[in-house]
Amino acid sequence: MSTWPIHPLRGGVHPPQCKTLSNQSPIHSVPLPKQLIVPLLQHLGRSTEALVNVGDYVLKGQLIADSSSPISAAVHAPSSGTVSCIGPQPYPHVSGQLLEAIVIDTDGLETWCPLEPVPDFYAASATKLLDKVRQAGISGLGGAGFPTVIKLTPKAHQPIKTLIINGTECEPYITADDLLMREKTAQLMLGIDILVHILQPEHVLIAIEDNKPEAIAAVRHALDSRRYHVVALPTIYPSGGERQLIQILTGQEVPSAKLPAELGILCQNVGTVVAVHDAIIEGKPLISRITTLTGQALQRPMNVECLIGTPVAHLLELAGIQQAKRGRLIAGGPMMGFTLPSAAAPIIKTSNCILAATDAELPPPPPALPCIRCGDCAEVCPANLLPQQLHFYALGDDHPQLQAHNLFDCIECGACAYVCPSSIPLVQYYRAAKADIREQEQKQIKAEHAKERFEFRQERLRLEDERKEAERAARAERLAKTKAEQAKKATQADAASHKADAADDELKRLKIAASMAQVALRKAQKQLEAHDTEALKVQVEQLRVAADYAKQALELASAAMPAPAPAPSQPAEDELKRVKIAASMAQVALRKAQKQLEAHGTDELKVQVEQLRISAEQAKQALTAATATATTPTVADKPVKTELSAAEQALKKAKIDVAMKRAALRKAERNAADPEALAALQAELTHAEQSLAELN
Ligand code: SF4
Ligand code: SF4
Repeated sequence: MSTWPIHPLRGGVHPPQCKTLSNQSPIHSVPLPKQLIVPLLQHLGRSTEALVNVGDYVLKGQLIADSSSPISAAVHAPSSGTVSCIGPQPYPHVSGQLLEAIVIDTDGLETWCPLEPVPDFYAASATKLLDKVRQAGISGLGGAGFPTVIKLTPKAHQPIKTLIINGTECEPYITADDLLMREKTAQLMLGIDILVHILQPEHVLIAIEDNKPEAIAAVRHALDSRRYHVVALPTIYPSGGERQLIQILTGQEVPSAKLPAELGILCQNVGTVVAVHDAIIEGKPLISRITTLTGQALQRPMNVECLIGTPVAHLLELAGIQQAKRGRLIAGGPMMGFTLPSAAAPIIKTSNCILAATDAELPPPPPALPCIRCGDCAEVCPANLLPQQLHFYALGDDHPQLQAHNLFDCIECGACAYVCPSSIPLVQYYRAAKADIREQEQKQIKAEHAKERFEFRQERLRLEDERKEAERAARAERLAKTKAEQAKKATQADAASHKADAADDELKRLKIAASMAQVALRKAQKQLEAHDTEALKVQVEQLRVAADYAKQALELASAAMPAPAPAPSQPAEDELKRVKIAASMAQVALRKAQKQLEAHGTDELKVQVEQLRISAEQAKQALTAATATATTPTVADKPVKTELSAAEQALKKAKIDVAMKRAALRKAERNAADPEALAALQAELTHAEQSLAELN
């Protein structure tokens, strides 16, 4: 006997059990139907997507649909055969809506796909076992069908201390778990062992209502040395609700909007535990389940192990349906089940019962009357809610008040409606209100997503505009910089051009001055030939010196001119020729004067020779410079050339100055000038010679 302490359930009702209809015979097998309708959505969460096409041959246990969402469960072929249709098919839902399904025409061979069992699960890691559970597509078989692997993966900071195996099966008529615990006890024990290996809880509680003595005995017998607690609970509806069972076994209430895992507690239905066993020990995915076929409209109520996708009509035929007696056809039990619109709908993973009741057995509900505020509904509510208030707010679509009164804590057990003297279908109002709120929440989420997308787009456009503006500014800056550089270059080119023009003008001026000096010299020479006077001689001499000086200045200016640009090569060659000719002529004139000096030896000839020698040297230097410019016309040479020319110019000027001072002194001596004047001229000559010596 279990010594585990239990706590009384708050509320609850005691409807007729009606379980003996179906629990008196063992679990039956079901002849293979010709067609299996396998919906893509059989669980809570995201639907799966088909992985096969029409015409494909599939093996039993083959994965045929899956989802990338973690809140989903894979779907497998329940038998071997050919996919004949993928599309909307009848579905076990109160609305009678069609749902996407894969239809398999069975071939009767039941050919399995390769299986990968893990019999030595103690040697396997929890991660590997959880992956096997996920691959097997297991979702809760006793309730809403939440994917099992999610429940078996608690957060790291919320370890599971208490594992509860739920075998209460409190709803009337349903005996599937009862028969499972009796006939598959060994699998149930091994399945619990696997969960314990994965979760490492401190306590394991196997809860069974005391209206199932055979199941309690079988489980206790199978415990062996396991330290699991088999807890027999008083029969009361709805003791099997997850939160209610936790409250009975631990005395703790799971807070509203919280999960049992946050209290370190995990509940698993016995059917789900056996499915975990099959997945790990045998490698089989979830493709069948035990379903109760019951109701007084059936000749042979029973429990069957049927393939997922088996049409309800096929099972009703097996159980001997009496169509004439049949009243409501219910999927689930009389308290929480719903009316099946069509027997063509298939069995899915959450189908624990098909109830074919007669009208006498489950008469149609009488017309609802106004609430008399008797408070009976609140008395029996196991979730500690105010059902009449919820009904009132549901009538007014007052969603804020419904949520404030914890509508979503309602487990839709139907206890309130069961006791309501006004026969108000309270649960229907709650389901409709929940659906409305969920729909509005979905709309709200969609609107928020749309808003987020809009704001994201606006932000993206703003950033794009900023980027373009920055690019525009950078382009404008580059353009302004380029323009400034071009303007600077233009200014520099202008300055260079002006400088060249000025040099050109100066050269022209010097050429004119040299020509005029030559003309004046020739004119004076003619006058001297006509009237040979001393004054004319002096004048001719002065004009010759001036002409020479002008010529030298012109030559210096020509030599100092910037080197010609490389492009106009012809003018450079012309200039070179001209300089060569000038140098040759200067040499010829020098040699001629030297011969005359040798013949006559006068001072004037000496001065003339000296001047011609300077001119010849200058011409030679000009030729050297012109040759260098012609052969290496680089800009870098220009400053050197200009600098050399300036030094040479000063030297030449000093030499000419000395020659002129010397000539003036000779002339004064010849004219018998007074001693003071001679002394002054001598001093000037001495000074000029010193300057020349310094420059040399
Ligand atoms: S049991 Fe029915 S009649 Fe009584 S308070 Fe609740 S809803 Fe109203
Ligand atoms: S159906 Fe909801 S409100 Fe009614 S008794 Fe059950 S939990 Fe309470």
